[in-house]
Amino acid sequence: MPIFSHSIQNPTPCPGSPDLETVVCDCCGGSRTLPLAVLPPVDELALPMHRLGAAALRFEPGAVRFCRCLDCGLVYMNPRLTESAVARFYDTVYAVKGAAQAFESDQRRRTNLYLDQIAALLAVEQPHVLDIGCGAGQFLRAAQERGWRVSGSELSGVAAEKASRLLGVPVFHGDFRQMGFAPGSLDVITLLSVLEHLRAPMDTLRDSAALLKPGGVLMFNVPNPDSWEYRFARLTGQMWRGFIIEHLYYFTPAFLRRCLAELGLDIRVMSSWNPDSRLPNPLRDLRAARAAPPSSPAPGSGGAPAIPAARPVSLPRRLLRQANHYLLDVVSALSEGRQNGGSTSGNALFVWAQKRG
Ligand SMILES: [Zn+2]
Repeated sequence: MPIFSHSIQNPTPCPGSPDLETVVCDCCGGSRTLPLAVLPPVDELALPMHRLGAAALRFEPGAVRFCRCLDCGLVYMNPRLTESAVARFYDTVYAVKGAAQAFESDQRRRTNLYLDQIAALLAVEQPHVLDIGCGAGQFLRAAQERGWRVSGSELSGVAAEKASRLLGVPVFHGDFRQMGFAPGSLDVITLLSVLEHLRAPMDTLRDSAALLKPGGVLMFNVPNPDSWEYRFARLTGQMWRGFIIEHLYYFTPAFLRRCLAELGLDIRVMSSWNPDSRLPNPLRDLRAARAAPPSSPAPGSGGAPAIPAARPVSLPRRLLRQANHYLLDVVSALSEGRQNGGSTSGNALFVWAQKRG
């Protein structure tokens, strides 16, 4: 069955919520789904940046939902944010000075692990790597230091310019499909924390696979809605913390195995292990909170939009909530397994797949 993105074909407007649209499954085009979760009201979102971005959008409380496709197993947001709503969300968030650093996950410590594993699979001395959604270019910089040939694409103009300066080579501002690469011409393609944000992830997976040489490596990471923490949350009647307003898609190990096989890719390594992971420690957190100055930007400073306050919670509830978070953190840390352990029970999946041939 040919793989293409069904969800961008005919989205249906969502009555009462102009920033939302209803879609079919991006992978199989089906619409039979199992409801999984409802996005909480804006003032109950945990991250200040999520409250800020969500407050700029027009949708009714309870309208944003997450579900699993009963036909193919893809997990996705539906109704979901429209294309213009996604753009407004990021424009609002990035307008806050200093927010970009706090908002973007820090990939630097993981970069060497990613590159070592890719190098171990390749028989090429100086591979050509394309990083799709390369951000400010830190990953490509590390590849460049190893003597690799680097190319990058990035949808944010500001980030693309930063990356170009860092790398000393032009980074493409726009869609990687307009870069002019011939099919079968690249050694490595990376999609780091990218697929879950896209409106049409299946198209991106298909077109990335097509650009790889036989033996080339596709490396990516995605959120995993089949983790121990996900199951624990379901059992205890809570929403999985992984369901957030930024992420339109979620991928289970079983789904990825089927999908990558259809694209002609063999999974070499799929792992939840994360070099930054550690067990939670309330005492350490308390000490860090006392020592560090407040890191979040001052609300409304410098003409930036004010971050909506979180709904006030009584002290006993706050303590209960904190204890619950520590419990979930323990489940999450244990589920990630060990290096080279091959656990796929963590909240994130890191995948290295190789093109057949
Ligand atoms: Zn489906």
